[in-house]
Amino acid sequence: MTVTVRFAPSPTGRIHIGNARTALFNWLFALKHKGRFVQRFDDTDVERSRQEFADSILYDLHWLGIFPDQTEYQSRRFASYDAAVDRLKAAGVLYPCYETTEELDLRRKVRRTRGLPPVYGREALKLTDAERASYEHDGRKPHWRFLLPNFTSDPFETERTEIHWNDVVRGEETVDLASLSDPVLVREDGTYLYTLPSVVDDIEMGITHVIRGDDHVTNTGVQIAIFRALGAEPPAFGHHNLLTTASGEGLSKRTGALSIESLRDSGIEPLSVASLAVLVGTSENVRAVPSLAELAEKFDPAATSKSASKFDPDELIVLNRSLLHHTSFDEVRDRLMVLGVSGPHAEAFWMAVRGNLDRLADAVSWWKILREGPQPAAEIADEDREFLGQAFDLLPDEPWDGNVWKDWTAKVKKATGRKGKALFMPLRLALTGLESGPELADLLPLVGREGTLARRP
Ligand code: GLU
Repeated sequence: MTVTVRFAPSPTGRIHIGNARTALFNWLFALKHKGRFVQRFDDTDVERSRQEFADSILYDLHWLGIFPDQTEYQSRRFASYDAAVDRLKAAGVLYPCYETTEELDLRRKVRRTRGLPPVYGREALKLTDAERASYEHDGRKPHWRFLLPNFTSDPFETERTEIHWNDVVRGEETVDLASLSDPVLVREDGTYLYTLPSVVDDIEMGITHVIRGDDHVTNTGVQIAIFRALGAEPPAFGHHNLLTTASGEGLSKRTGALSIESLRDSGIEPLSVASLAVLVGTSENVRAVPSLAELAEKFDPAATSKSASKFDPDELIVLNRSLLHHTSFDEVRDRLMVLGVSGPHAEAFWMAVRGNLDRLADAVSWWKILREGPQPAAEIADEDREFLGQAFDLLPDEPWDGNVWKDWTAKVKKATGRKGKALFMPLRLALTGLESGPELADLLPLVGREGTLARRP
């Protein structure tokens, strides 16, 4: 059977790095097993779901290097969910309830004071036809609960009923259905909660592995029961730990915190995001991995920690630097051209500066410095003026080869007696206006003799 996974966000905001972790876990799992990736929008909540968010999520996924084999919208699939509801009703495992939220709250309180677990007591199962008719007559509409299979013959005599699965990420997992309330699958207004549509889609879309955040572990117990009630074999499940901000708060699509869009806008490379999103909170070292294919090879869901992982955006810059440092000119040629960096020297320029960039766009300021001079011109200390005058007098004639910097500074050293920082720093300042940057041996040929002389203080 072809491994088939899905990423199922609700399109209620822009996705963040935590959602990207789920998407990437699924994508890498599919890559590794030569499987398929279904992009499914859980948009049954029509009030909060928006097409523009779905579009932006697809855009963000493409940017990360994820290209779904199939895209689905739950809002277009209500007929399938209605059919599943009919089957569950016919099987007697979906029953109408009329309690209001206040009534349910009160019941929970009473149960607590009696030392009982605060689960739904299935009172609605005891309603007579006349009572139901009376509720309906009063204008109450039912919500529908799924009868969990946690009893032998009497639903009021629940008994420990363990649902087991071998979690792809967490190993052996167990949920006791007797510890849970019968879940509401359909609301009073006929709209669906996420639980049932998700199962119906997983069945109809041939999903073999459900990989999602560990906030869904309990849902999995319930959903496995629903798969079985619908006569389907449940897929395999994997629940990865969630990411939190550096201060330990959860991420939310609604607040836009650490959204993929904001990371992209701040100049972070997709592979830096992907490397951190996948490797943080695993036993693997976090480092910049140069391709998703390589990340897929390394990817071992079982190496994921079980507790939440703090995500530090500062780490992204470190990864970005390392990634750019190892990026070939061919990989960035087009992007540099868009930034105005092109021509016969572009490749040598890239090779010279790539080890000194936090972001690709930082290359532009180096390009400007090399072509137009320091921005602004460096302040040269009085004691260095004479030294620099001497040094510029010794600048070799063209043509230059790759040794020009070495040859020049050897001559300057001999003539002035300066060495080390006292020799190099004034030259660096005169040439670039900055105290640090790429190797001057690489920059000097790019500045050229004319450009260098123009920098004479
Ligand atoms: N829409 C759900 C979520 O984003 C999907 C969970 C799942 O993958 O089943 O949490």
